Amino acid sequence: MSCDYFSLAHSGVQSLRPYQPGKPIEELERELGISGIIKLASNENPSGPAESVCSALSDVMPDLSRYPDGNGFMLKSALRDKLKIKAEQITLGNGSNDILDLLARTFADPGKEVIFSEYAFAVYPIVTLAVNATPVVIPAQRWGHDLDAMVNAISDKTALIFLANPNNPTGTYFDKPIFETFMNKVPDHVVVVLDEAYFEYVEEADYPNGLAYLDRYPNLVVTRTFSKAYGLAGLRVGYGVSNPDIADLLNRVRQPFNVSLPAIVAATAALNDAAYLQRSVEMNRRGLAQLERGLSGLGLGYIPSVGNFITVDFEKDATELDKRLLKKGVIVRPVANYRMPSCLRVSVGLAEENERFLSALKESL
Ligand SMILES: *Cc1c(COP(=O)(O)O)cnc(C)c1O
Repeated sequence: MSCDYFSLAHSGVQSLRPYQPGKPIEELERELGISGIIKLASNENPSGPAESVCSALSDVMPDLSRYPDGNGFMLKSALRDKLKIKAEQITLGNGSNDILDLLARTFADPGKEVIFSEYAFAVYPIVTLAVNATPVVIPAQRWGHDLDAMVNAISDKTALIFLANPNNPTGTYFDKPIFETFMNKVPDHVVVVLDEAYFEYVEEADYPNGLAYLDRYPNLVVTRTFSKAYGLAGLRVGYGVSNPDIADLLNRVRQPFNVSLPAIVAATAALNDAAYLQRSVEMNRRGLAQLERGLSGLGLGYIPSVGNFITVDFEKDATELDKRLLKKGVIVRPVANYRMPSCLRVSVGLAEENERFLSALKESL
């Protein structure tokens, strides 16, 4: 007996394609039988986790047989103190992707529309289609979000708008006046999700801090993560900050123990390690400048980025080039799945990794 299970899935799920993650180092090692591979493909923090985090984690071992605190009291208190917000505004997630998923499951359904930009983060269409809501994709403007066009696309079916600031994979950002003008036009029944996964890296004076707007805009949800500047991508922990009514809804939908005990403990330690964060941000600033210089030196164009990655436009299909880089043991990120087949996204690595990428690229062109 057999059955066409694909036909049993709802139409939203049927239109999904599996997410293409960056190639794992071990996989390329197996394929090529070489070692010393570098991975600049998933916007991870190249310096490894903070020492303070590792020692906090070793203290937690004896408690692993117990469920974590389902309310994440310790981490919420640390976030409350650090960010000057109320604990009732916080929703903790298994990565901030979990929060994006909770938002879709809470506010969207098959009758509703979800607005996001062309070239925006791949998780927005996934969470939208998973609840069989309708994605409304707004053409990008010079690789960035066109916030005016997004406002114009709002209908009485609009449930959510996802904004990434800065955006991945383009590294583009929008400034305070543009964001404020946008928020002033969005009706209160439309929930705006401001994804600030790279917040800690951005040093531009006109970059809006989403938390500063929560009092003014009750329909705003800001999401942040420990995966990038805090160096904890492998643990999966992120959070949303919103008005308490929205947080209450998300916390009803959330699985009771969605954030693990090690994740709670590590994120709390990371939050209290200001020196690690500062080093990460400084290293990123230098690394981004190093990549920009190297790429310009090779006569290559790139999208100016304020994140911990940079997307290079080779102005022709980059598939072959990516293969040549892989053969040299350098993993970067093809972005053809974002409809950017001529581009490769490169995460900022350690100085020597950036150098190795640049010389492998030079040899591969
Ligand atoms: C990396 C990234 C995230 C973070 O996802 P986690 O689930 O927290 O690891 C969220 N949004 C964007 C745009 C990202 O690039």
